[in-house]
Amino acid sequence: MTPETIQQILQAGKIASKVRRETAAKLKNPGYSYLKAMDEAEAQILKLGGKIAWAQMAVNDIAAHYCPEEDDQSTSQECQLIKVDIGVHIEGYIADNAMTIEVGTSNQYKNHIKAAQNALKAAIKLVQPGVQLWQLGEAQMSEAEALGLTTIKNLSGHTIDQYKVHGGISIPSYNTKDKTEIKANTQIAIEPFVTEGTGLIKEKGQATIFMIEKQRSTRSLYGQRILNYPTIKQQQTLPFTTRWLTRSLGKSPALLGLKQLQQDGIIKAYPPLAEISKGMVAQFEHSMVVGDKTKIYTRHEDDEW
Ligand code: MN
Ligand code: MN
Repeated sequence: MTPETIQQILQAGKIASKVRRETAAKLKNPGYSYLKAMDEAEAQILKLGGKIAWAQMAVNDIAAHYCPEEDDQSTSQECQLIKVDIGVHIEGYIADNAMTIEVGTSNQYKNHIKAAQNALKAAIKLVQPGVQLWQLGEAQMSEAEALGLTTIKNLSGHTIDQYKVHGGISIPSYNTKDKTEIKANTQIAIEPFVTEGTGLIKEKGQATIFMIEKQRSTRSLYGQRILNYPTIKQQQTLPFTTRWLTRSLGKSPALLGLKQLQQDGIIKAYPPLAEISKGMVAQFEHSMVVGDKTKIYTRHEDDEW
Protein backbone atom coordinates (compact mmCIF):
# COMPACT_ATOMS: atom_id res chain seq x y z
CA MET A 1 0.00 0.00 0.00
CA THR A 2 1.34 3.41 -0.97
CA PRO A 3 1.12 6.34 1.46
CA GLU A 4 -1.49 7.82 -0.87
CA THR A 5 -3.63 4.67 -0.68
CA ILE A 6 -3.38 4.68 3.10
CA GLN A 7 -4.55 8.30 3.14
CA GLN A 8 -7.54 7.43 0.97
CA ILE A 9 -8.46 4.49 3.21
CA LEU A 10 -8.21 6.61 6.36
CA GLN A 11 -10.27 9.39 4.79
CA ALA A 12 -12.98 6.94 3.73
CA GLY A 13 -12.99 5.56 7.27
CA LYS A 14 -13.40 8.98 8.83
CA ILE A 15 -16.43 9.75 6.68
CA ALA A 16 -17.97 6.27 7.07
CA SER A 17 -17.74 6.32 10.87
CA LYS A 18 -19.21 9.82 11.14
CA VAL A 19 -22.14 9.05 8.83
CA ARG A 20 -22.76 5.71 10.55
CA ARG A 21 -23.00 7.37 13.98
CA GLU A 22 -25.16 10.26 12.77
CA THR A 23 -27.57 7.94 10.98
CA ALA A 24 -27.87 5.57 13.94
CA ALA A 25 -28.55 8.51 16.28
CA LYS A 26 -31.43 9.72 14.09
CA LEU A 27 -33.03 6.28 13.88
CA LYS A 28 -32.85 5.89 17.66
CA ASN A 29 -35.69 8.42 17.85
CA PRO A 30 -39.09 6.75 17.35
CA GLY A 31 -40.85 7.94 14.20
CA TYR A 32 -37.79 8.64 12.06
CA SER A 33 -38.32 7.73 8.40
CA TYR A 34 -36.06 4.93 7.12
CA LEU A 35 -36.07 6.49 3.68
CA LYS A 36 -35.08 9.92 4.99
CA ALA A 37 -32.32 8.38 7.12
CA MET A 38 -30.79 6.53 4.15
CA ASP A 39 -31.16 9.47 1.74
CA GLU A 40 -29.51 11.77 4.26
CA ALA A 41 -26.71 9.27 4.88
CA GLU A 42 -25.92 9.17 1.17
CA ALA A 43 -26.04 12.95 0.85
CA GLN A 44 -23.77 13.33 3.86
CA ILE A 45 -21.16 10.92 2.44
CA LEU A 46 -20.94 13.07 -0.69
CA LYS A 47 -20.90 16.32 1.27
CA LEU A 48 -17.95 15.09 3.33
CA GLY A 49 -16.00 14.32 0.16
CA GLY A 50 -16.50 10.55 -0.05
CA LYS A 51 -18.19 8.37 -2.60
CA ILE A 52 -21.14 6.14 -1.72
CA ALA A 53 -20.29 2.47 -1.59
CA TRP A 54 -23.65 1.82 0.10
CA ALA A 55 -25.99 3.01 2.86
CA GLN A 56 -28.00 0.10 4.20
CA MET A 57 -30.02 -0.77 7.25
CA ALA A 58 -31.82 -3.80 8.67
CA VAL A 59 -34.51 -4.12 11.33
CA ASN A 60 -35.08 -6.74 14.10
CA ASP A 61 -34.69 -10.30 12.72
CA ILE A 62 -33.37 -8.99 9.41
CA ALA A 63 -29.60 -9.08 9.72
CA ALA A 64 -28.62 -7.14 6.60
CA HIS A 65 -29.36 -6.08 3.01
CA TYR A 66 -32.36 -3.81 3.35
CA CYS A 67 -32.65 -0.47 1.55
CA PRO A 68 -35.92 1.49 1.51
CA GLU A 69 -37.58 2.01 -1.86
CA GLU A 70 -38.63 5.50 -3.00
CA ASP A 71 -42.16 5.12 -1.59
CA ASP A 72 -41.23 3.36 1.68
CA GLN A 73 -43.29 4.89 4.50
CA SER A 74 -41.68 2.93 7.36
CA THR A 75 -40.47 4.75 10.43
CA SER A 76 -38.47 3.65 13.45
CA GLN A 77 -40.59 2.16 16.25
CA GLU A 78 -39.89 1.77 19.97
CA CYS A 79 -37.81 -1.37 20.75
CA GLN A 80 -36.81 -2.06 17.16
CA LEU A 81 -33.24 -3.28 16.82
CA ILE A 82 -31.82 -1.35 13.85
CA LYS A 83 -28.51 -2.06 12.15
CA VAL A 84 -26.94 0.79 10.16
CA ASP A 85 -24.25 -0.37 7.73
CA ILE A 86 -22.36 2.36 5.87
CA GLY A 87 -19.78 1.89 3.13
CA VAL A 88 -17.70 4.79 1.82
CA HIS A 89 -14.95 4.72 -0.77
CA ILE A 90 -12.36 7.00 -2.24
CA GLU A 91 -10.98 5.78 -5.57
CA GLY A 92 -12.36 2.35 -4.70
CA TYR A 93 -10.64 2.14 -1.32
CA ILE A 94 -13.48 1.07 0.95
CA ALA A 95 -14.40 1.70 4.58
CA ASP A 96 -17.09 -0.72 5.76
CA ASN A 97 -18.66 -0.23 9.20
CA ALA A 98 -21.86 -0.91 11.07
CA MET A 99 -23.55 -0.45 14.43
CA THR A 100 -26.84 -1.36 16.08
CA ILE A 101 -29.21 0.78 18.12
CA GLU A 102 -32.44 -0.03 19.91
CA VAL A 103 -35.08 2.58 19.13
CA GLY A 104 -36.33 4.53 22.15
CA THR A 105 -35.24 4.09 25.72
CA SER A 106 -36.44 0.65 26.83
CA ASN A 107 -33.05 -1.06 26.48
CA GLN A 108 -34.74 -4.41 26.05
CA TYR A 109 -31.94 -5.70 23.82
CA LYS A 110 -28.94 -4.31 25.65
CA ASN A 111 -27.42 -7.81 25.87
CA HIS A 112 -27.61 -8.27 22.12
CA ILE A 113 -25.84 -4.96 21.63
CA LYS A 114 -23.26 -5.66 24.33
CA ALA A 115 -22.55 -9.17 23.02
CA ALA A 116 -21.97 -7.98 19.45
CA GLN A 117 -19.67 -5.20 20.70
CA ASN A 118 -17.76 -7.61 22.95
CA ALA A 119 -17.43 -10.11 20.09
CA LEU A 120 -15.98 -7.47 17.81
CA LYS A 121 -13.60 -6.18 20.49
CA ALA A 122 -12.41 -9.70 21.35
CA ALA A 123 -11.64 -10.48 17.72
CA ILE A 124 -9.90 -7.14 17.15
CA LYS A 125 -7.62 -7.86 20.12
CA LEU A 126 -6.32 -10.94 18.32
CA VAL A 127 -5.77 -9.30 14.95
CA GLN A 128 -2.13 -9.31 13.92
CA PRO A 129 -0.18 -10.72 10.97
CA GLY A 130 -0.39 -14.52 11.16
CA VAL A 131 -3.59 -14.76 13.18
CA GLN A 132 -5.64 -17.77 12.04
CA LEU A 133 -9.27 -17.46 11.00
CA TRP A 134 -10.59 -19.98 13.55
CA GLN A 135 -9.11 -17.89 16.37
CA LEU A 136 -11.08 -14.82 15.31
CA GLY A 137 -14.22 -16.94 15.01
CA GLU A 138 -13.86 -18.60 18.37
CA ALA A 139 -13.27 -15.27 20.12
CA GLN A 140 -16.51 -13.88 18.70
CA MET A 141 -18.60 -16.93 19.55
CA SER A 142 -17.36 -17.13 23.11
CA GLU A 143 -18.38 -13.51 23.77
CA ALA A 144 -21.86 -14.14 22.34
CA GLU A 145 -22.26 -17.28 24.43
CA ALA A 146 -21.11 -15.48 27.56
CA LEU A 147 -24.30 -13.43 27.36
CA GLY A 148 -26.52 -16.38 26.48
CA LEU A 149 -26.58 -15.66 22.74
CA THR A 150 -24.98 -17.10 19.61
CA THR A 151 -23.39 -15.73 16.46
CA ILE A 152 -24.91 -16.08 13.01
CA LYS A 153 -22.74 -18.73 11.43
CA ASN A 154 -23.55 -18.15 7.78
CA LEU A 155 -22.58 -14.49 7.88
CA SER A 156 -18.96 -13.47 8.09
CA GLY A 157 -16.40 -10.72 7.97
CA HIS A 158 -14.18 -10.46 4.92
CA THR A 159 -11.07 -9.10 3.29
CA ILE A 160 -11.53 -5.93 1.22
CA ASP A 161 -9.90 -5.04 -2.10
CA GLN A 162 -10.12 -1.97 -4.29
CA TYR A 163 -13.71 -1.69 -5.58
CA LYS A 164 -14.41 -5.12 -4.03
CA VAL A 165 -16.42 -5.38 -0.82
CA HIS A 166 -15.51 -9.04 -0.50
CA GLY A 167 -11.86 -9.66 -1.24
CA GLY A 168 -12.11 -13.45 -1.22
CA ILE A 169 -11.38 -14.53 2.35
CA SER A 170 -14.29 -14.88 4.80
CA ILE A 171 -13.71 -14.23 8.49
CA PRO A 172 -15.95 -16.59 10.45
CA SER A 173 -17.80 -15.79 13.68
CA TYR A 174 -17.31 -19.28 15.15
CA ASN A 175 -14.52 -21.84 15.28
CA THR A 176 -14.42 -23.27 11.76
CA LYS A 177 -11.00 -24.87 12.44
CA ASP A 178 -9.77 -22.92 9.39
CA LYS A 179 -6.04 -22.31 9.90
CA THR A 180 -5.72 -19.77 7.07
CA GLU A 181 -3.52 -16.90 8.28
CA ILE A 182 -4.19 -13.23 7.73
CA LYS A 183 -1.19 -11.44 6.25
CA ALA A 184 0.19 -8.00 7.05
CA ASN A 185 -1.19 -5.08 5.00
CA THR A 186 -4.49 -6.87 4.35
CA GLN A 187 -7.64 -4.76 4.60
CA ILE A 188 -10.29 -6.64 6.57
CA ALA A 189 -13.73 -6.08 8.07
CA ILE A 190 -14.86 -8.00 11.16
CA GLU A 191 -18.61 -8.05 11.76
CA PRO A 192 -20.17 -10.35 14.33
CA PHE A 193 -23.95 -10.74 14.13
CA VAL A 194 -25.47 -12.07 17.37
CA THR A 195 -28.92 -13.41 18.14
CA GLU A 196 -30.94 -15.37 20.69
CA GLY A 197 -32.26 -17.42 17.76
CA THR A 198 -30.82 -20.40 15.86
CA GLY A 199 -27.90 -18.42 14.48
CA LEU A 200 -28.56 -18.87 10.77
CA ILE A 201 -29.99 -16.57 8.13
CA LYS A 202 -31.81 -17.14 4.87
CA GLU A 203 -32.80 -14.81 2.06
CA LYS A 204 -36.30 -13.40 2.50
CA GLY A 205 -38.37 -11.05 0.39
CA GLN A 206 -37.73 -8.67 -2.47
CA ALA A 207 -34.15 -7.55 -3.14
CA THR A 208 -33.43 -3.82 -3.29
CA ILE A 209 -29.66 -4.28 -3.48
CA PHE A 210 -27.78 -5.43 -6.58
CA MET A 211 -24.25 -5.75 -7.88
CA ILE A 212 -22.81 -6.22 -11.34
CA GLU A 213 -21.84 -9.87 -11.63
CA LYS A 214 -20.59 -10.12 -15.21
CA GLN A 215 -19.86 -7.36 -17.69
CA ARG A 216 -21.59 -8.45 -20.88
CA SER A 217 -24.09 -6.98 -23.29
CA THR A 218 -27.84 -7.28 -23.01
CA ARG A 219 -30.56 -7.03 -25.65
CA SER A 220 -32.92 -5.56 -23.08
CA LEU A 221 -33.43 -1.85 -23.76
CA TYR A 222 -34.36 -1.14 -20.15
CA GLY A 223 -31.36 -3.18 -19.07
CA GLN A 224 -29.12 -1.07 -21.30
CA ARG A 225 -30.55 2.09 -19.81
CA ILE A 226 -29.58 0.87 -16.36
CA LEU A 227 -26.06 -0.15 -17.40
CA ASN A 228 -25.55 3.21 -19.13
CA TYR A 229 -26.85 5.23 -16.23
CA PRO A 230 -23.83 7.27 -14.94
CA THR A 231 -24.35 6.40 -11.26
CA ILE A 232 -24.35 2.68 -12.07
CA LYS A 233 -21.27 3.02 -14.30
CA GLN A 234 -19.49 4.89 -11.55
CA GLN A 235 -20.41 2.21 -9.04
CA GLN A 236 -18.42 -0.40 -11.03
CA THR A 237 -18.49 -3.59 -8.91
CA LEU A 238 -19.94 -1.89 -5.82
CA PRO A 239 -23.62 -2.28 -4.88
CA PHE A 240 -26.51 -0.09 -5.99
CA THR A 241 -30.10 0.16 -4.82
CA THR A 242 -33.47 0.13 -6.55
CA ARG A 243 -34.57 3.67 -5.67
CA TRP A 244 -31.57 5.25 -7.41
CA LEU A 245 -32.98 3.78 -10.62
CA THR A 246 -36.73 4.15 -10.07
CA ARG A 247 -36.23 7.84 -9.28
CA SER A 248 -34.20 8.53 -12.40
CA LEU A 249 -35.57 6.09 -14.99
CA GLY A 250 -39.14 5.69 -13.71
CA LYS A 251 -40.55 2.83 -11.72
CA SER A 252 -41.63 0.34 -14.41
CA PRO A 253 -38.59 0.73 -16.70
CA ALA A 254 -36.23 0.40 -13.73
CA LEU A 255 -37.93 -2.68 -12.28
CA LEU A 256 -38.23 -4.36 -15.67
CA GLY A 257 -34.61 -3.57 -16.49
CA LEU A 258 -33.43 -4.97 -13.16
CA LYS A 259 -35.38 -8.17 -13.79
CA GLN A 260 -33.95 -8.62 -17.26
CA LEU A 261 -30.38 -7.94 -16.18
CA GLN A 262 -30.78 -10.66 -13.54
CA GLN A 263 -32.09 -13.10 -16.15
CA ASP A 264 -29.10 -12.26 -18.37
CA GLY A 265 -26.77 -13.02 -15.46
CA ILE A 266 -25.33 -9.50 -15.56
CA ILE A 267 -26.44 -8.40 -12.10
CA LYS A 268 -26.99 -10.37 -8.93
CA ALA A 269 -29.72 -9.60 -6.39
CA TYR A 270 -29.00 -9.48 -2.67
CA PRO A 271 -32.34 -9.96 -0.87
CA PRO A 272 -32.81 -9.17 2.83
CA LEU A 273 -31.24 -11.77 5.13
CA ALA A 274 -33.60 -12.94 7.87
CA GLU A 275 -32.74 -15.00 10.95
CA ILE A 276 -34.44 -18.37 10.34
CA SER A 277 -36.13 -18.56 13.76
CA LYS A 278 -37.01 -14.84 13.75
CA GLY A 279 -34.37 -14.14 16.39
CA MET A 280 -33.46 -10.50 16.99
CA VAL A 281 -30.09 -9.59 15.46
CA ALA A 282 -27.42 -7.09 16.51
CA GLN A 283 -24.26 -6.37 14.51
CA PHE A 284 -21.15 -4.26 14.97
CA GLU A 285 -18.43 -3.88 12.36
CA HIS A 286 -15.07 -2.21 11.90
CA SER A 287 -12.63 -2.16 9.01
CA MET A 288 -8.89 -2.31 9.60
CA VAL A 289 -5.52 -2.66 7.94
CA VAL A 290 -3.65 -5.56 9.50
CA GLY A 291 -0.10 -4.88 10.64
CA ASP A 292 2.21 -4.92 13.64
CA LYS A 293 0.14 -1.89 14.60
CA THR A 294 -3.27 -2.73 13.16
CA LYS A 295 -5.11 0.44 12.17
CA ILE A 296 -8.85 0.33 12.84
CA TYR A 297 -9.82 3.06 10.44
CA THR A 298 -13.59 3.15 11.04
CA ARG A 299 -13.36 3.76 14.77
CA HIS A 300 -15.09 7.01 15.76
CA GLU A 301 -13.91 8.88 18.84
CA ASP A 302 -17.30 8.15 20.48
CA ASP A 303 -17.18 4.41 19.74
CA GLU A 304 -16.65 2.42 22.90
CA TRP A 305 -16.01 -0.74 20.92
MN1 MN B 1 -20.87 -3.65 6.44
MN1 MN C 1 -18.74 -6.01 5.80
